Amino acid sequence: MSINPIQMQPGLPLPEFFAKYGSEPQCEEALKQIRWPRGFRCPICGHDAACEFTRSKTRYWECRKCGHQTSLTAGTMMHQSQLPLTKWFLAVYLMTQSKNNIAALALRRELGITWRAAWLLKHKLMDAMRQRENCQPLSGDIRVDDAYLGGERTGGKAGRGSENKTAFVVSIEMRDNRPQRVRFDPVDGFSFAALRPWAATALVPGSTITSDGLIGFEVVRQLGFEHRVKVAPKGKAGTEIEAYRWLNVVLGNLKRSLSGTLHAFKYSKYAARYFAEAQYLFNRRADLPALIPRMLSALVMAKPCPRGKIACPLTDSELET
Ligand SMILES: [Zn+2]
Repeated sequence: MSINPIQMQPGLPLPEFFAKYGSEPQCEEALKQIRWPRGFRCPICGHDAACEFTRSKTRYWECRKCGHQTSLTAGTMMHQSQLPLTKWFLAVYLMTQSKNNIAALALRRELGITWRAAWLLKHKLMDAMRQRENCQPLSGDIRVDDAYLGGERTGGKAGRGSENKTAFVVSIEMRDNRPQRVRFDPVDGFSFAALRPWAATALVPGSTITSDGLIGFEVVRQLGFEHRVKVAPKGKAGTEIEAYRWLNVVLGNLKRSLSGTLHAFKYSKYAARYFAEAQYLFNRRADLPALIPRMLSALVMAKPCPRGKIACPLTDSELET
């Protein structure tokens, strides 16, 4: 059996991680480099001089021109977080360096925080991934399929039309017969109307789309894409034919990754974030250590996700049981 270089690559060893990001000042410095690589810039007026001060253990920069006060985390996904940066950084490490995705329960144990804090932390990290992935459409040779999350066969096809599930499109960008990037996009169904917004945001114009005979996918032709239909011969499942082999592999991996760490979640409400996590990690799988600074940049660039929007579903006492 040949060795898969992506699976065999070393990640960042934990002692090296702690040597680099083990203290609050180290994390602050790393964040400062990401946020202001060429020195302070006022987020309001763009001025480059500020006076620094500390209030309630948080460092602030006050713009010398307009007086605006800002912190390293203000306006980012870490906005107004009560958690120290070391916990955020360790969560980034745990979520990016392990092969399987990490559940909020495991984050709680590893970080020594409450279930609710762990749940919110995981969902904020996933939302930063979602925001990054939203603006990364696929291009070139793209294979697509319809799938469902939930029902009896999580992550796979559970029959079009059954209850308790979220419909999504799985798409793979192929190069030299290997998958380059994937997308998992929740959709309201597989009609022309439901798939039009997906096609407009997930695919780069000029790409070639290959699908099975599902009529809704013909919407891509209306939008100007080249559309190839490949239907499985009688007696064969669509996933058995070569054109869709990688779709099957990627869907299987998604299913295993979600069922291994999650018992149940409201698919319609949270699916987009769990999909984004799987997608983000797959699309950046070639360089594991680089995922840490990339994820930190994603957190800095992401818009804050207010508590109401994160929608943690249960009270602390319910979460503990
Ligand atoms: Zn200013």
